[in-house]
Amino acid sequence: MISEANLNSRMTFLTRKLAKILILFSVFVVASCTDNSAQIYQLSGPIMGTTYHIKIISPPNPAVLEQIESRVVKAMTEVDSLMSTYKITSEVSVFNGLTSNQWFNVNPLTFEVVNTANQISRMTSGAFDITVSPLVNAWGFGPDGKPVKKPTEQAVKKILERIGFSNIVLDEANLRIMKTQPVEIDLSAIAKGFAVDRVALELERQGLDDYLVEIGGEIRASGSKLEDAPWILAIESPEVNQRKIWKKITIGNNALATSGDYRNYFEEGGIRYSHTIDPETGYPVQHQLTSVTVLSPSSAEADALATALLVLGEGKGYDLAVKHQIPAYFIYRSENGFSSKYTKEFNQYLIN
Ligand code: FAD
Repeated sequence: MISEANLNSRMTFLTRKLAKILILFSVFVVASCTDNSAQIYQLSGPIMGTTYHIKIISPPNPAVLEQIESRVVKAMTEVDSLMSTYKITSEVSVFNGLTSNQWFNVNPLTFEVVNTANQISRMTSGAFDITVSPLVNAWGFGPDGKPVKKPTEQAVKKILERIGFSNIVLDEANLRIMKTQPVEIDLSAIAKGFAVDRVALELERQGLDDYLVEIGGEIRASGSKLEDAPWILAIESPEVNQRKIWKKITIGNNALATSGDYRNYFEEGGIRYSHTIDPETGYPVQHQLTSVTVLSPSSAEADALATALLVLGEGKGYDLAVKHQIPAYFIYRSENGFSSKYTKEFNQYLIN
């Protein structure tokens, strides 16, 4: 996904240059006019092994803008500390280390994400499944890094015995979760989107309704840019060694997530093994669908649905999106390069 920032590279380039001169990690930069009218503020930094970029349109309001930086960084850091499989102290890592059939009290945020994940697992008949964690690691896309060689068929079969979202039981009244089999969870396909939603909530609590939030490619837009111009984003062409625009879009007050097999993958014997795993086979998805972009009011849902539709492929994935009226855009490999199709709900966001 190429966000407005990349599209509008001249402005961002200048801002980034200025940002680098000012502060390494995160910076508020007034990148436009100096009178009392609305201005654009940018904030960026590292988070969850990737980066965040936030653009806020607001009249100069030092009191709010001063504290918003610490509030949004706190919101993202909270999600990271609860849900990272890269932190051994996170609730997810502690839960993964537990044996079966013991209740585990969790933070309301963790409960909310696991609950949403289970709902999307049910809606997609298990194509989205947070218990894929041991498979993600076995294929080299988790915190343990790349294995010397890819897992054997037997190894995959063995791990599949420990996969299945139905082995996660939730007790909403007491905010606790339990595993009925020795499963381990990985929230990488939903928690970044959830962090975007948490940042958006912080901005709106401060009365800031014109913003663009991006964390590692998960994006949420609200309101408009300066002079009421719409936020313009682009679906990128799924080329492995270049960043190219496939289609420009506006997304209204929505979130947008793209999942694809052309960024995080390795090739062996002419086969591409990407980080999106089919929980049914235990293998990285092997079909012609290379990128799915989903639009939803919730960034967590867009994030998870994009992964689910990528697992299902250009046929079943498209049919599910049509059935549930999901605004979704599919790019797939065909004999003459890439072809695309989208659900009718996506049509209104395309810029022709
Ligand atoms: P997406 O398409 O959004 O998700 C793909 C990921 O989802 C896969 O990598 C896998 O983990 C998982 N997945 C694969 N198949 C399925 C399936 N069928 N159902 C459900 N999930 C599936 N990375 C680092 O290198 N260092 C860090 O410190 C770090 N910290 C993180 C902390 C948090 C809280 C989170 C959520 C992620 C963190 N990551 C970290 C991972 C990184 O930020 C990205 O999440 C990861 O690269 C995948 O994001 P994506 O948008 O590229 O892929």
